[in-house]
Parts: sequence; C-alpha cells; structure tokens
Amino acid sequence: MGIIKQMPDFLANQIAAGEVVERPASVVKELVENAIDAESTQIIVELIEAGIQQIKVTDNGKGIIAEDLPMAFMAHATSKIYESTDLFNINSLGFRGEALASIGSVSKVRVESMTEDDDSRHFIEIEGSKIIEEGLTQAKIGTTVEVNSLFYNTPARLKHLKTIKTELSHSLKFIQNIALAYPDIRFKLTHNGQEIFASHGNGNLQQVIASVYQPALARDLIPIQSESDDFSINGFISKPTLTRTSKQYIHWIINGRSVKSYMLDEVLIKAYGRQLMIGRYPIAIIRIQLDPRLVDVNVHPTKQTVRLSKEDELSELITQAVHQTLDVVNPIPSLEESD
Ligand code: ADP
Ligand code: MG
Repeated sequence: MGIIKQMPDFLANQIAAGEVVERPASVVKELVENAIDAESTQIIVELIEAGIQQIKVTDNGKGIIAEDLPMAFMAHATSKIYESTDLFNINSLGFRGEALASIGSVSKVRVESMTEDDDSRHFIEIEGSKIIEEGLTQAKIGTTVEVNSLFYNTPARLKHLKTIKTELSHSLKFIQNIALAYPDIRFKLTHNGQEIFASHGNGNLQQVIASVYQPALARDLIPIQSESDDFSINGFISKPTLTRTSKQYIHWIINGRSVKSYMLDEVLIKAYGRQLMIGRYPIAIIRIQLDPRLVDVNVHPTKQTVRLSKEDELSELITQAVHQTLDVVNPIPSLEESD
C-alpha cells in the first residue's frame, strides 16, 4: 500500500499560513489590501490587544455576493486572476487567493458583506477552516472582516509573538505605509477603542505625510516629479540638510505597493552624493508607476519585494530627478554669479 497522500485542505492552509500570516500585522495587511482591491474609499482597522485578541477591518468597497462567501475561504480561490497570462499583468494587490484561507485556518473569522445589487447583508463564520454559522445581518454595503483569537490552534506561533507594543507598531507602520501609497483612501486605525492614526483621504500626499510624521516635516519636503518612456515618478524628498540616521524614512511605492528595495535606496543616496553627511539618510516618499508587465510581484508570498525590468532606466530617472529637484533649492552657482 502506498504511503503518500494528498494532505487535507485544512493542513495545507495552515502550512500556507506559515508563510503569509506571521503576526497580527500580516492579517491587517491582507485584509486592508483586500479592501483596497474592492475599491473602498474608507477603511477602518480596529485592533484589540494589538490584534492578538481581535482584528476588525471595515470597508465601503464593492462587497462579496453571498454565494462567494464560502468560496473566499477556499485555498487558491480568487476573483483577481483566472489564467496564467494574468499573472504577468497584475493590477491588484492580491492575486494568490491564499490570505482568507490561511487566516481562516489559524483563527476564528466572521465576514459580513453586501454588494450594491444585494438587498441584504450576509455573514459567515469560520473556525479552523470550518464553516460554523451562516446567516443574514443588518444591511450596509461593503465588507467587515473580524479575526478573533489569532493562532488559537497554533500555539507555537502564538508563543513567538512579541509584546503588545511591538506587535502594534508593526500594524501601525503598515497602515502608515499604505496610507502614503493611497492618499485618496481615508484610513483609520484604533487600538483598544482609541484612535492612533488617521488620514484624510482627500488625495493630498503631503497631508498624509503630515499625519504619518509631523506637519512641520511634511512642509519642509520638496516635490519631485519626472517621467521616462516606461516610468513615471512623483512624491517628496528632503533637502540635504533635513536627514535622519536611519533609512526607514525612505518609502518606495511601486504601482500602489509599498516595497523595500535596497537597490533603489542606494540609487537615491548616491544621487544626493556628497551633500549627505556620512551616516545620514534623506527622507523620501516616491511613487513609481509603470506598466504592470514590467514588474514581477510574484517573488515572495508577502510581495514586499518585487523584481523590476529596466532597472537601469529607472535608476537614471531617479538620479536625474533628484539632481533637478535639489538644484532648485540649492542651485549650483553659475559662473557669472560667482564672479
Ligand atoms: P486574493 O486577494 O489573493 O484574491 P484572498 O484570500 O485575500 O485572495 O481573498 C479571496 C477573495 O475574496 C478575493 O479575490 C475577493 O474576491 C474576495 N474578497 C476578500 N476580501 C474582500 C473585501 N474586503 N471586499 C470584497 N471582496 C473581498
Ligand atoms: Mg487578498
């Protein structure tokens, strides 16, 4: 008798959860990205005990129809890509169809949703990948996902969580980064009932920067904008005199995705050149738009790193744009003037 068996979905989902659901902030990330993909203009994130006890994300997006509710928790079930060619032309934040299945395997989840075409709002409750209850609730368009008792059935994961303060800081950081990437969306984050972050959602990036950092800092930044054949960039950078001791004030947003890129950090720092003191880094919030076919987001399950085509063209564009921007605030004296 053969001994190899395909594992049950529940087990496969828990293994997948090992990759994408590391901590409460990973759940926040997946749920907020789903809300953005659903074209929400307002997203409220409520955490209890840094999300370990409860994470609740409420959006005003297009919703999920009743018959899709159980499907949303199936492994590899998604409405965002249907065939392999779609994989090279991703226009959404999600596409793996793994998040809800993973989250549903390591917590107790309740989803409520209603679309414009529905006349009632449906809910479903999942515990350890199993449907516990389904029914109707008070009508309101949009979706609310409530994740309770995260890692209740995976004690090793639960044990590895850090302090409430640290876990909360991860979620806060994520919400601030995503708010910078989506100035048109109004975000609100509360912890144990208290508001800890909010953005206006009026499309003004500088105002989001003011909410994330201080208004005075936001006012001191200078706009940067440029275009090449394949890329367009815009955002804000600091004067060489306004610097920080860490690179964490450098934000890259590629097609609406907040990403880390050592390569782009280095390009930016090099563009400031000797104007920066050793060990000091600029502040920068730079949005990069490009054809989705030129970026591979399927590099890592959390999609925090991406692979770009035409990196040289982008580096050149950033370098030139930084030079031009800094020249305006700190012009290199022309020959006539220096006489
Ligand atoms: P993915 O985002 O990769 O498609 P998920 O497991 O995160 O996979 O979600 C599964 C599906 O559930 C999504 O494709 C989408 O159709 C639906 N969905 C999840 N959250 C929302 C939401 N907040 N609003 C509307 N639809 C949602
Ligand atoms: Mg998703």
